[in-house]
Amino acid sequence: MDYVSTRGMAPQAAAPQALLAGLAPDGGLYVPARPLDPLPPGPTFRDTLLAVLLRFFGELPHPALAQAVDAALARFDLPDALAFRDCGDAVFLELFHGPTLAFKDIALTLLPHLLALASAQTGGGGVRVLTATSGDTGSAAMAGFADVPGARLLALYPASGISEVQRRQMVCQPGANVAAIGLRGNFDDAQRAVKAAFADPELRARAQAAGCHLTSANSINVGRLFPQVAYYLHAAARMGGAFDVCVPTGNFGDILAAWYARLLGAPIGRLAVACNANRVVCDFVRTGRYDARRPFHVTNAPSMDILVSSNVERLLWLLTQGNAVKVRTWQGQLQAEGWFQIEGYPLHDLRADWAASWADPEETERAIADVWERFGYLIDPHTAIAWKTLRDLPPTGRPTLIAATASPWKFPRAVLRALTRQTPPEDDFEAMEALAAHTRLAPSLSHLRHAPILHDRVADLTQAPQAILDALAL
Ligand SMILES: *Cc1c(COP(=O)(O)O)cnc(C)c1O
Repeated sequence: MDYVSTRGMAPQAAAPQALLAGLAPDGGLYVPARPLDPLPPGPTFRDTLLAVLLRFFGELPHPALAQAVDAALARFDLPDALAFRDCGDAVFLELFHGPTLAFKDIALTLLPHLLALASAQTGGGGVRVLTATSGDTGSAAMAGFADVPGARLLALYPASGISEVQRRQMVCQPGANVAAIGLRGNFDDAQRAVKAAFADPELRARAQAAGCHLTSANSINVGRLFPQVAYYLHAAARMGGAFDVCVPTGNFGDILAAWYARLLGAPIGRLAVACNANRVVCDFVRTGRYDARRPFHVTNAPSMDILVSSNVERLLWLLTQGNAVKVRTWQGQLQAEGWFQIEGYPLHDLRADWAASWADPEETERAIADVWERFGYLIDPHTAIAWKTLRDLPPTGRPTLIAATASPWKFPRAVLRALTRQTPPEDDFEAMEALAAHTRLAPSLSHLRHAPILHDRVADLTQAPQAILDALAL
């Protein structure tokens, strides 16, 4: 598959180049250069996933892609990685049976293999991956990259401001080629340190001297976006007819994958965007106006605490049938002024297929309690926002597939508070124990409480550049 940039100022790139570059050189995001032909799902998720990879990354050696799929799926605790759960008019698609219990595992167990294959094909000496994380991405990236030959990864996280479960998922992660460093600062500081590193000529020169590619593992990469298409295609076979989707949304990667599944033939009707109190994308879908000039809220669904949602740029490109001039204008205005407004047929098309709603933290917890009380099914805060969103929208007569993006055991304090309506213990692991007692369910992740700490480095912001060089062995 060849890719073009949403901003239209970069050369067309084959899949290996697009994978290794992450962002296109003109600052845009890579999208398939040609319209997509239908792709029927296979008998198993594994078959569908492989077919999707062959479609999007077919330049990579096919037997190696099949091995990558098997290696990735072997990390999941279910034979075919996914589970479905019917609750009334909704079907929850459980995407959290991978190593870190969140949906990002599906793409991040594959990405290291895709990058290593792309690097080998372009004559490179492996990949070095640097990523800033507010929690989920770092642990999923570390678990995915651990012990993958030819790859080395560093996750930078804010030393305070992430949950204890999230911190332990990183600092206890084995693997000689992965590392996590806590920065004394907040998530923005960590992100700035990563941006500064990518712009640092010294680091670039050292990577080049070592013959390796320097890249990031965030969701702008085609290697993170397109594997996700597979589970919507697979779900289409399970739903057995037209259905809607409702997806908890942050960076807009997961729900955009559902749109690509529709382009590949999945009979998806309405796509519902579910946001938390940082509801920029919800407002955009309702009005066509994207306005990031607003206060940032820290919520109980932290993986969706985001105001600039990168993958919206790909949606803009699709809505305008690839009008890169328009996309450049909107993105330029977003960068300069913090907002833009779409009008005319792109807005009309957006309203025809998409819907949106949102939940504040209290509504989120009420949704967790609602699903537990009605169905005896325990969901996490992100997934609960999708449930609440579905209640807000007019019924269509079709069943809705809800992407269940994380295990409730990742967020035990919020889930316990939702069920008991009492202040939970400060400590995540105590909350986990109480939640297990309250629900009579077996907890996941409780082993982390006493797991050995393997990455104890904490650095000041001024030490970040050296710490990055050390950890990436450059
Ligand atoms: C990352 C994440 C999301 C948001 O997914 P996007 O692809 O960024 O929209 C939702 N839920 C959970 C649990 C996540 O980790």
